[in-house]
Amino acid sequence: MNNKTERLKEYAKMLINKYGSPLYVYDYEILKKRCEDMSKLQKQLENALAKKVRMHYSTKANSNPYILETVKEAGLYVDCMSPVELMINKKCGFKNQEILYVCNNITAEEMKLVYESKILICLDSISQVDTWGKQFPGTKIMVRINPGVVGVGHSEKVITSGKLTKFGITEENFEELFEVAKKYNLTIIGIHQHLGSLFLNDKIDNYIMGVKAGLNLIKKHFKNIKIVDLGGGFGVPYKPEEKPLNLDIVSEKLIKVLKEFVNEYQSVEEFKFEPGRYIPCEAGYLIGQVTAIKHENGQYYIGTDIGMNQLVRPSMYDAYHEITIFGTKSEEKIQANIVGNICESGDILGKNRTITLPNIGDLVVVSNAGAYGSSMASNYTGRLRPGEVMIYKDGRIEKMKDRETETNILQGLYFPKKYKI
Ligand code: PLP
Repeated sequence: MNNKTERLKEYAKMLINKYGSPLYVYDYEILKKRCEDMSKLQKQLENALAKKVRMHYSTKANSNPYILETVKEAGLYVDCMSPVELMINKKCGFKNQEILYVCNNITAEEMKLVYESKILICLDSISQVDTWGKQFPGTKIMVRINPGVVGVGHSEKVITSGKLTKFGITEENFEELFEVAKKYNLTIIGIHQHLGSLFLNDKIDNYIMGVKAGLNLIKKHFKNIKIVDLGGGFGVPYKPEEKPLNLDIVSEKLIKVLKEFVNEYQSVEEFKFEPGRYIPCEAGYLIGQVTAIKHENGQYYIGTDIGMNQLVRPSMYDAYHEITIFGTKSEEKIQANIVGNICESGDILGKNRTITLPNIGDLVVVSNAGAYGSSMASNYTGRLRPGEVMIYKDGRIEKMKDRETETNILQGLYFPKKYKI
């Protein structure tokens, strides 16, 4: 158990009793520190490049208003990808120019909403540029390119650059992009790329190579670009042996390539980044409880109430999350699969973990659940999404979200007349 998880021990039982199990819990101090890391990186780059640099927290990682409040207090901006995320960003007080709409395959109606909200849009295919241009000729847009190099990411499912991805416009299609932009008198003021999600120290050089590839394409093909957006991807350690991302090295290497670019490409006024995971990930825990202990065919299964609907990353990406069990008295060490309560064989929270044999009712704490945890949760098999709370330094606890109720799920569901509920 690490120090961070130890700190949670004094609160866990009380929180579960009060707010129900499972429950997302966030540590404000960690969240604030990660926001500050990003604003420090922003300042370092800004000072070194003498250009505007803006970090837009990627709302998709966790859109809770308490997370966004902390982001805002650190002076960071936001990006969003759907009308609801946009609405939440606006409600949290972000101004139009502090929000970026980075979308994929949206409808003409959704584009209208973005246009009417006066938010800068980043379009990621020629087809989408065409749909936009038809409605809003003569406007300014950003476009997402695919720099062609294989991206960086913890799973194939989150690598968003290279030949095997649905995202961005590749070099061989730039001419067609320019024709469509010309047809509607659109001005491409910004270029965006996002290589993938979660790089750590061993992949900094691959990230930088991807950045260089994108910058080279801008220099070769695009004139008068004002904004270069390099997306997100900043990783955090999930496994005990992994080290935190060294942002000083990232900063040093970025400054080198961006300085060269600034010297050669005069029109650029601003660099943007879109860190998502880095900000809320380590602040978040998902707490649940042991509901069953099973030993069959030489394999232990520790059943819990944390199903793949509450935290989908392990089953979706084979992602590793540290799991700590509170309350164990036994000294007996076992190797076990820690599993959820959903009827799917893939509903495995942690494979082959060495733990001490727990008891029914012991608390299960999943670390690094703050990003792509609650934002990806679902009602699969009719299970309720957890409540969420924030713990502050002085021990104060704020509720961030109610635990869902059956009424929430049944709302909007129609039953044939003969079924009365
Ligand atoms: N920007 C875009 C366009 C994304 O698709 C994503 C995530 O996939 C992000 C930013 C945030 O990425 P991360 O959470 O890895 O920083």
